[in-house]
Amino acid sequence: MTSPKTLLKAWELFPKKQLGQNFLADPSTARMIVSRGGVLPEDVIFEIGAGLGALTIPLSAAAKRVYAVEKDDRLVRLLETELVLHKAKNVTLLHQNVLAVDIPAMAAGEKTRLLAFGNLPYNISSQILIKLIENRKHLSRCILMFQKELADRLTAKAGKKAYGRLSVMLRYCAEIRPLATVKANLFYPKPKIDSEIIEIDFSRPSPHKAENEPFFFSVIKAAFSKRRKTLKNALTSSELGMSQEQVSLALAAAGIDPVRRAETLNVEEFVGLGNALGEKIEVGGRKSEV
Ligand code: SAM
Repeated sequence: MTSPKTLLKAWELFPKKQLGQNFLADPSTARMIVSRGGVLPEDVIFEIGAGLGALTIPLSAAAKRVYAVEKDDRLVRLLETELVLHKAKNVTLLHQNVLAVDIPAMAAGEKTRLLAFGNLPYNISSQILIKLIENRKHLSRCILMFQKELADRLTAKAGKKAYGRLSVMLRYCAEIRPLATVKANLFYPKPKIDSEIIEIDFSRPSPHKAENEPFFFSVIKAAFSKRRKTLKNALTSSELGMSQEQVSLALAAAGIDPVRRAETLNVEEFVGLGNALGEKIEVGGRKSEV
């Protein structure tokens, strides 16, 4: 594989910071990621941010088919040529914003669920993750590379400072496992911090079930939006639009001390709280649409 620096120079291109373009410059690391990701010959890959093809090419060799999404038209032209050079015939390159990709339509023609894969553009990593969670019935697993800071938040346990909205959402719908750290000097241009690869396995969700999932996710959001406040205050002054009395009754019904803060609740407690709040809204005659 030609190095990103040489390839970009040959095409008279430069990396765009606003698109989070830090290209993986080490082919053996790319192969390691595909191998640790456990890609099987029958897998259909949904690759996010294909860039210069550092992952696309080893993925095409390991999997049945790859749908590779890239927003930057300059890179799409370059990658089309690279794919021909590498005889990667099972890759469908999609010039699109990943946030606008119709995942159900992509999955519709396939017999298996998609395996999402990507070295994510750091500036929209959280938005991409939320989209993947919302579309998880079409996905088996995700193997994603995040900047270390976000990866730490995703894998943080209850009670830790890094524990937040995404940690709870992820733990609710998947089992998560850190796979490897990739040093910053293996990218071009070199980012400020190292990256971490994480496996998100949607086939292993939490056994605790929210009765109304969109409402449950909005409860998590509300609880963490004022994480310094007690749960009672954070939820009362939130976009859930609930009265102090409704919140107090729900906290009591869920057996949660109202002076606790969001970061101390594990997933099971959040599910209990979300279900209890949902009931109070229904009793109060409000629609729980969120
Ligand atoms: N996969 C390549 C690699 O590992 O070298 C590139 C990874 S780079 C961190 C992120 C890639 O995502 C860039 O190629 C960038 O242009 C692309 N990208 C950024 N925003 C995007 C978006 N909204 N939709 C699709 N691709 C995007």
